Amino acid sequence: MSTVTDEQLIAEYRKTENASQAGRNLGIAPRTARERIQSLTLNGRNPIPLAKVNGKAPPQVLLYDVETAPHLAYVWGMFKQTLGPNQILETTDVMCWAAKWLGQDAVLSESRVDDDSDERISRELWTLFDQADFVIGHNSRGFDDKIMRARWVKYGMPPPSPFKSVDTLTIAKSFRFPRNKLESLARYFDIGHKVEHEGFDLWVKCLRGDKDAWNRMAEYNIHDVVLLEQVYIKLRAWDNRAPNISLYYHDDLTRCVVCGSSSLTDIPQSAYTGVSEFPACRCRSCGKVMRTGSRYRADKTVLRNVL
Ligand SMILES: [Zn+2]
Repeated sequence: MSTVTDEQLIAEYRKTENASQAGRNLGIAPRTARERIQSLTLNGRNPIPLAKVNGKAPPQVLLYDVETAPHLAYVWGMFKQTLGPNQILETTDVMCWAAKWLGQDAVLSESRVDDDSDERISRELWTLFDQADFVIGHNSRGFDDKIMRARWVKYGMPPPSPFKSVDTLTIAKSFRFPRNKLESLARYFDIGHKVEHEGFDLWVKCLRGDKDAWNRMAEYNIHDVVLLEQVYIKLRAWDNRAPNISLYYHDDLTRCVVCGSSSLTDIPQSAYTGVSEFPACRCRSCGKVMRTGSRYRADKTVLRNVL
């Protein structure tokens, strides 16, 4: 049994960004070091949080999910209703949210159960967005991001500091899954399922002040964010439109564009664009295939196609 502790191994791994090298530096077999580090990263949930470089923190990746209240309205029938503005009693707002930082176990959540303050919980979520470099959600670009922007502007808040939004629904649509809902994807990947609840009745009970219903809502919301993280990790190597996370590390290492790992391996196949050939590599951590920025045969004249 090695006398090197997990803490020592993690510290060396943070320094070298290479599990085998970390092992060699500490006098343990590279393979053993890799296996130990993999087990420490929670079934491939990379990366182990990195130490600050040049005083700058590594990129902060936030996963989140918002549950909203429905509009409340007077209606005359059950089907195909067209509502005038004077039929609307209350418009939608935020009931609760859950969020977590990628790779960390803690799930943060807030609900308005005690004070009925959508403003308070919206402001709290804003502070997380303000710290984040990347914000990930399921259908977040079509729904959650827009809901939150609407609440923040209502309460006179400025936009959060710059961040990039990543939507797992958009990535999922580049495949043909049986369904693209978060729960369906989680089932498809055998990584769990949503917390069961009574459907819309749960919302009704919460809005009537049923504390037990609020607890179930929070549990459902928190579990969704845990599933979201697993679905995101499953899909991210396939996201060809992912914002380049490697730019957010303030060191000199060459890093994967989606997970930030510097553990990359060259692959024999080149990547071709319309006019150039580039060396390609694969991320050992998430599997992403990338090309380098410098092309082969930079001096070769290549003609472009014309119509
Ligand atoms: Zn990667």
